[in-house]
Amino acid sequence: MSTNNVTDTARLSLLLNELRLPAIKLLWPQFAEQADNEGWPAARFLVAIAEHELAERDRRRIERHLAEARLLPGKTLDTFAFEAVPMISRAQITAIVAGDAWLEKGANLLLFGPPGGGKSHLASAIGLALIENGWKVLFTRTTDLVQKLQVARRELDLEAAINRLDRFHLLILDDLAYVTKDQAETSVLFELISARYERRSMLVTANQPFGEWGKVFPDPAMTLAAIDRLVHHATIFEMNVESYRRREAVERKRGPGRRVILCRKHHDCRDTRFSSRLSRSSHQDCRAILCTVSFECWPARACSARCETASLP
Ligand code: ADP
Ligand code: MG
Repeated sequence: MSTNNVTDTARLSLLLNELRLPAIKLLWPQFAEQADNEGWPAARFLVAIAEHELAERDRRRIERHLAEARLLPGKTLDTFAFEAVPMISRAQITAIVAGDAWLEKGANLLLFGPPGGGKSHLASAIGLALIENGWKVLFTRTTDLVQKLQVARRELDLEAAINRLDRFHLLILDDLAYVTKDQAETSVLFELISARYERRSMLVTANQPFGEWGKVFPDPAMTLAAIDRLVHHATIFEMNVESYRRREAVERKRGPGRRVILCRKHHDCRDTRFSSRLSRSSHQDCRAILCTVSFECWPARACSARCETASLP
C-alpha cells in the first residue's frame, strides 16, 4: 500500500466514525477489494456498502426495541398453537401485526379469557412481531405499571411519566383485572387510558370482560369511562378456552392416537381437544385422524392404510 493509501485509510476511518457509519467502516475494505477485483463501477460499490449500513442500522434498532420491550421470552406467533384457540385465526393475527392503520389511529386490542388460555403468550408474540415490523412496544404487568405511576404521582411527575410512555406505539397491559382499588389511587390507570385515547394503542389482557372492572377503578363512573375509551376503537378477542397446559397434560396422559377433525369448510385440522363446538357427530362428513408419525391429517381410511400407529382413541 502506498503512503497516500495508508493516509487515506486512516482518515476514512476517522470520517466514518464521525459520520457514525460503523458497518461501512467495518466492511468497506473487503467490499473495496471485491470491487477492484471484479471491476465494479463506483456506484455499485457505494450502493453495496450503503445497503449494509442500512440493514445493520435496522438490526440494531430492533435489538434496542426488543431490549426495552420486556416481552415474555420464547413466546412467538410460531410457537402459538392457533388450533387451540378456534375463535382466533392465524390470518387475523397476521393482519393485525402487518396492518399499520390501527396503530396510527391509536386503536386497541383486548384479549379476554380464563387463566392459561394463552392471552399473555399471544400478547407478547404480537408485540414481538410488531417490533420486527419497526414499531415500539412495551409489555408490562398492569399492577407493576400502576405502582410506578403511583410513585410518579406522589413525586408530582405523573403527567411526564405518562408522556414518556408515548414513545411506545403499543403498550401491553397484562392482567388488567388483577389491579384492585385497594391499592391506593388506581385512578392513575384511568389517566393513562385517557391520555392514550385515540392517540396511542394499548393491548389489554384480562380474565374477565369488564364485569369485574368495578374492582379496578375507584368509582363506577370512572370504570365506565375507562371501558368506553378502551372499546371505542378496539378489536376484542374472547379466548374462552380451557387452560393450554391442562389440555397438554391430559393429552400426554391419553397417549398416542390423537383424534382430530379435518374441517372441509376451513381446510384445516381441528383437534377435538381444542374445540368442544366441533363434535364428531356434527362433522361426520369430514372425520379424520391425526397421523402420530407424520403429524398430518388424513381421512381415517387413508391414514390407517399409510400408518398403523394412527388410531382413534
Ligand atoms: P394466560 O395469559 O391466558 O393466563 P398464558 O399465555 O400465560 O395464559 O399461557 C400459559 C402457558 O401456556 C404459557 O406457557 C403459554 O406459552 C402456553 N400456551 C397457552 N396457550 C397456548 C397456545 N395456544 N399455544 C402454545 N402455547 C400456549
Ligand atoms: Mg397471563
